[in-house]
Amino acid sequence: MDEKKPEAKQLLQSTPARCQPGEAVLDDHVFFHAVEQADIAISITDPQANILYVNPSFSRVTGYTSEEAVGCNESMLSNKTTPPEVYKSLWRNISRGQAWTGRLVNRRKNGTRYLAELTITPVADDNGIIVNYLGLHRDLTDMHRLECKVRNQMSLIESVVDGAPMVLALLDENDRVVLDNQEYKKLQSDLNMEEPAPLFLNGIGSGFDRHPGARPSGHAFLDQEVRIDRKGSGGPRWFSCSGVWVKVDDDHADAFFEATATTYLLLVAKETTSLRAQQEKARMAALQALVAEEERINALRESLSAAVYQLEGPLNMISSAVGMLSRRSKDDPMADALAEALKNGEEALEKLRGMIPRPSAAASASANINELLRSVLDISTPRLLKAGIRVAWKPQATLPPVNGYPNSLMTLFKSLVDNAVDAMSTRGWRERELILSTRSVGTDIEVRIEDSGPGIPADLQLKVFEPFFTTKQQGSHMGTGLAIAQQIVMDHGGTITIESPPAGHAAPGCVVHVLLPVTR
Ligand code: FAD
Repeated sequence: MDEKKPEAKQLLQSTPARCQPGEAVLDDHVFFHAVEQADIAISITDPQANILYVNPSFSRVTGYTSEEAVGCNESMLSNKTTPPEVYKSLWRNISRGQAWTGRLVNRRKNGTRYLAELTITPVADDNGIIVNYLGLHRDLTDMHRLECKVRNQMSLIESVVDGAPMVLALLDENDRVVLDNQEYKKLQSDLNMEEPAPLFLNGIGSGFDRHPGARPSGHAFLDQEVRIDRKGSGGPRWFSCSGVWVKVDDDHADAFFEATATTYLLLVAKETTSLRAQQEKARMAALQALVAEEERINALRESLSAAVYQLEGPLNMISSAVGMLSRRSKDDPMADALAEALKNGEEALEKLRGMIPRPSAAASASANINELLRSVLDISTPRLLKAGIRVAWKPQATLPPVNGYPNSLMTLFKSLVDNAVDAMSTRGWRERELILSTRSVGTDIEVRIEDSGPGIPADLQLKVFEPFFTTKQQGSHMGTGLAIAQQIVMDHGGTITIESPPAGHAAPGCVVHVLLPVTR
């Protein structure tokens, strides 16, 4: 034990030792031994920071023995690189009797530097005069290195994420965006500030389980194509989307021994619009040919059905005449001749029925209603332009796919758009606007095709679905379009109705309202 220790011992022994009067008494030496053996560098100074006592940990951290340190000023530890403001703040606080904690760059006896985290507590006498300072410090170099590493990694990740040429967003367990990048923000501004993440998740639909009890790691979904439709003239945009589950360990104290984790979903969306645009061109050409063929077959079907319908009347009359004549006389030659004619007529009618082309037995597939309507608009553009019709395209940004017959649905929407164009093409009719809108309504998709034509009177709004009923000039149309449309809607388990637009519209107009269930 060196000579200076008793002085330090006295200093420490002056602290009151009793904690519970009458119960337990701490030995006076306990404080001294506790400070001596503490695993933190401890020093006690006079009011000018001249060292009176250091513990063995101080010597371990600084390299100065107790003999070398006692009598020197704490400034011997300064590397002279800590900014003066730090010392000013240190002294301002401690000289007012307040504790101070901060970080300083210290130099050991051997010249190596370390980052010290220092806490100084002023020690006052019974009169409140500061008589000593108690300094506690530890080497924080490794911790600092680790902090820097984390910060560097963070900024590296942030710059990679921000500069990545794809949309990135991190979603929490409630699908709230907690981190996004520049591309995500750009897309959000393109979508009139609508949050893109829910649109992507909506577009992926039932492709993945959003809230499984225990989320697995790895991919939630991979390379799923999502189409985002925009209102107005801007074309659709396509994205190839992938989702990756990211588990993050909880950092609150409760989770220290019982590790818990929060699972985030990293959404990555790469725009594929230009690639899709090229594919769309080819698809449109094929679609146009398909629609032309469908129209030709429909026209043939319509003509033959009309011929059958026209022939059925006279044949029914002949049939009743045969019945009547046969009842009057069994061997009436007229009745026999008529019966023969009826038989021939029915055979001819049957042949005619057999010639009516059947609807092609297409395989059912998943259909994007926005995509079909947009294609119908593209195909109809020359007609719409020629008729001077303004088009308002108001799709819901993303729609779940409908399981059905895409070609039949195309025929359905094409015939409804054609009807609207025909209605507004009346000579002298000025109001010419077509509004196409889509939205999800519960488990259905609602399509509204509104025109500003002369409309359909309320008493005919059901009748127009009957085959061969037409409000147009006889001869130009057979009146089977809406009957076929209704059949297609029914084949998809949906409904089709015709309404008048709400009061206050500039023109009478007509609203065709189609509801198609997403799953059947
Ligand atoms: P100094 O000349 O010592 O002082 C620089 C400035 O500090 C002065 O301009 C003045 O504004 C202020 N200052 C200095 N002394 C006083 C005073 N007595 N009263 C009011 N203001 C004053 N420094 C370290 O670098 N590393 C340490 O580990 C460290 N441990 C310390 C532990 C204790 C318990 C105390 C009380 C101080 C400690 N210091 C430590 C601070 C140290 O005493 C010096 O102030 C500091 O090192 C700056 O030294 P310097 O030679 O650059 O300037």
